[in-house]
Amino acid sequence: MRFDIMTLFPELVLGVLGESIIGRAQKAGHVSVHAHNIRDFANNKHRKVDDTVYGGGFGMLMMAPPVCDCYEFVKNQVEQELGTEIKSKAIYMSPQGAVLTQKKAEELAQYDNLIIICGHYEGIDTRALEEIQPEEISIGDYVLTGGELPACILVDCISRLKDGVLSDKACYEEESISSGLLEYPQYTRPYEFHGKKVPDVLISGNHAEIDKWRREQALRVTREKRPDLLEK
Ligand code: SAM
Repeated sequence: MRFDIMTLFPELVLGVLGESIIGRAQKAGHVSVHAHNIRDFANNKHRKVDDTVYGGGFGMLMMAPPVCDCYEFVKNQVEQELGTEIKSKAIYMSPQGAVLTQKKAEELAQYDNLIIICGHYEGIDTRALEEIQPEEISIGDYVLTGGELPACILVDCISRLKDGVLSDKACYEEESISSGLLEYPQYTRPYEFHGKKVPDVLISGNHAEIDKWRREQALRVTREKRPDLLEK
């Protein structure tokens, strides 16, 4: 799966997504991340991409022309490299969008390509969004300074669902939220830490009992921390 991120700060997203599991997934060819600098599409000698807001108010707004020109460039590049038959979608990271869920990540993982637009400052001139018509996705009901960290969260969340990125499908199927419940408590070495031992059942070797314990614990943890998930 290929991600194209449109941003004013390409190094930021490439840095974050070049590390750890997603960095290794890129090297292994399971996913690819391309960052495009919207500033490269500025049509003035100072490479200015933002301006004051009509009607007054604080802050600067990203102008429509460089955003739309960058989007056209990326769309054409993707079509040339992956063909026109692929499943592609434009997304704008925005606090005005529907909040990202695991279900949405699973739906988006079915695409071959996502073109992800990051706003900055006060956001983007509405006319650019009307023209591109991206799906708007928020990462939560709070406001950040830019769409770069939300874009990295979206790419990370989708990438780990792609074949080969994690060692086994069970890694994400059993995880909190994916399974519908929060995950049960987990332990590793040492067996005893500050007087607390690993529960006997986990070293019993009885897999039916271990599964039963984990299910009970998952229900308990969910009831304590996120009772709303049980209601769902
Ligand atoms: N003026 C905009 C509004 O009130 O809707 C907010 C702009 S915000 C300061 C700047 C950029 O950060 C947005 O264009 C968006 O790309 C990104 N952003 C901020 N909060 C976000 C969130 N919760 N989820 C996704 N993107 C967000």
